[in-house]
Amino acid sequence: MQQQKHQLRHVSAIKNGYVIDHIPTGQGLRILALLNLAIYPKVITVGLNLPSKRIGKKDIIKLEDRSISNEEESRIALLAPGATMARIRNYAVIKKKTLEIPSEITGLLRCPNRNCITNYEAIDTLFHVYRAGTQLRMHCTYCERVFHQQDMTDLSQLA
Ligand SMILES: [Zn+2]
Repeated sequence: MQQQKHQLRHVSAIKNGYVIDHIPTGQGLRILALLNLAIYPKVITVGLNLPSKRIGKKDIIKLEDRSISNEEESRIALLAPGATMARIRNYAVIKKKTLEIPSEITGLLRCPNRNCITNYEAIDTLFHVYRAGTQLRMHCTYCERVFHQQDMTDLSQLA
């Protein structure tokens, strides 16, 4: 009972918004950069290198009164697969999910191949994503080339 009360108080740090938890350490700052919160006027709580039973150490981000778009969610999932995202309303968790790497990414990433048609025609890129060990690979459906996650400028510029 005591434990539950404590948990509740912990989550209730924000009234409305999102809590992104179980972020692998180091990715918290990248996610903050991605969300472009430099001039955000509301409360942002950030915890870095917190102890985590599940992953050893973790980062956590709490955003008051901020929604997260599907596009942002996909980008966060690419940086921190396995992280959890909870939507908070009136101090209660109304929705929670574990972020998974999308198998397809449309229009979000630029193709690193300069000769790829997506770089000179108005076409949305489409990448198939798959795991290679702990790394991710992105396969461009237009030029058929395969790229490492760190080759994608859209992601690496956040590093
Ligand atoms: Zn391409």
